[in-house]
Amino acid sequence: MTIEASNKQKQSASEDKNLVKHGEVKSTTQAPLATFYEVIPLRIKTELMSVRECERLRRITERDTRIIQHYLRIIKHNEEKILRKDGKVNTSLLDNLTLTTSLNTKNKLRTSVPHDLKKRYPRCSHDEFQECRDKAIWTYESWKAQQDVSKKELSRPEFKKKTPRPMFKGKEGRGTFQIHFKLDNTDARLWLELRDSLDTKRSDTRTHQRLWLPLAYSPYHEKRLKLENIKMVELVYKSKEQQWWAHFTQHISVPSYQSTLSPAVLGVDLGIKKTAVAVLLNPTGKVIMDEIRFIVDKERQSKIWQLSRQIKETQRKLNKSLNNRQHTKQLNNTLFRLRRRRRSITEQELGFAVNQLVDFILQLKKRYNLFVSVGYPKYIQRRQPRGSGNKSLRKQVHKWCYRYFIIKLRNQLAKYGFEPYRVVAVNESWTSKRCSRCNSTNTTRTGQGQFNCHDYNYELDADLNGAKNIGKRLIRYALKPNFSSIKDLLTEECYPIQHYKCFLPLGQWLK
Ligand SMILES: [Zn+2]
Repeated sequence: MTIEASNKQKQSASEDKNLVKHGEVKSTTQAPLATFYEVIPLRIKTELMSVRECERLRRITERDTRIIQHYLRIIKHNEEKILRKDGKVNTSLLDNLTLTTSLNTKNKLRTSVPHDLKKRYPRCSHDEFQECRDKAIWTYESWKAQQDVSKKELSRPEFKKKTPRPMFKGKEGRGTFQIHFKLDNTDARLWLELRDSLDTKRSDTRTHQRLWLPLAYSPYHEKRLKLENIKMVELVYKSKEQQWWAHFTQHISVPSYQSTLSPAVLGVDLGIKKTAVAVLLNPTGKVIMDEIRFIVDKERQSKIWQLSRQIKETQRKLNKSLNNRQHTKQLNNTLFRLRRRRRSITEQELGFAVNQLVDFILQLKKRYNLFVSVGYPKYIQRRQPRGSGNKSLRKQVHKWCYRYFIIKLRNQLAKYGFEPYRVVAVNESWTSKRCSRCNSTNTTRTGQGQFNCHDYNYELDADLNGAKNIGKRLIRYALKPNFSSIKDLLTEECYPIQHYKCFLPLGQWLK
């Protein structure tokens, strides 16, 4: 792309932003694009590589891990110097501390720095340092963001296992990796070529050496992987299966979903008796009766219950033997295995619910200008049922479910042009207690999943009541006169209220 073209694109993007600010809806001939990232993992066929090549891959990644660790230490010790006000790391200040330059740039030659990484790791190139630096900064920033929200002290990030750096595809093949097709090769048709400087200095050559990694490339990947969209690759070692994987990140643009049909909100709740419940509301908060969906996965749910019982029992046994100072290794292993199994089945169950929901949403998309409101717990601790078992772990599992579900739903819908502001995670506290009809909290829920409101003698399914409340909550947020944006609880991002303008004409009757 020429500079002029990219400038034009920038200009049009800023124009779009201005339009949004003024709340005007312009009918353009070309629909705006929604972009998102997609990660596609491919296994590296190490069985086709020589021992020497495998050894080299190991050496590269171990070196990267050490450098990333080193960067993290430097960031830690210079926090107040290099941290910007918004909690992000100032990259150029970090470079001033760590990397010397031989090029005469605007800031003149930098011949000495406080932490000279090039001296310490002579067998690493400038590009590679910068890729390691980016990984360290991402890790640090995500830790920092969590730390700022969390009340207790979180342990600092560190890498105990192999963590290679991410590799970027530079312009015109100047990046540290390239992808090649070898159609005549029957063992591997797709190859990843890595450039590294590991042996450059030692053998006194000028060009860096290249390592060719064969990839397991199937017709499925052929369909999904768009080579021109790939921006980044990360190598990942899965110690359980002792395999290397290459995670390709590709940038995808699809026409953004825009609609002139009447607006509607789909309230989605992760249920207790059901996996998920979805209910469609019009902007006055009334249920559109034919559009209620209960998603139940009985088989997997009963498996999860069974596993939870087993986990509870094993936990009890473990506590007993701990008290009696007996060996617990075997019980620990059992517990670990059971938990992993429960997690994978939960993942399958939620994935099933997401697929069902996406099908449902794609049907609704043809008839409504659709928004999706998903409940997300703000205070997860309060919702925890008491009982035996590891309390903190149960919390994690619970919160993990919600995160997994919403992220997966959002990613799936992004493929159809649903921009993030259409799928909002709203606070779900009180949505299971409040009556969706009269807002009263004088209510009870029975063991059979029935919800009773005592003020009006109203009865309905408890999970459905929750989903209705969650849908209504988004409409209420959108209609509040003094709101200028709606905050997504999961990502903490704020979406301008203009996106939700279509609620206004009908919503005024909402109590
Ligand atoms: Zn009521």
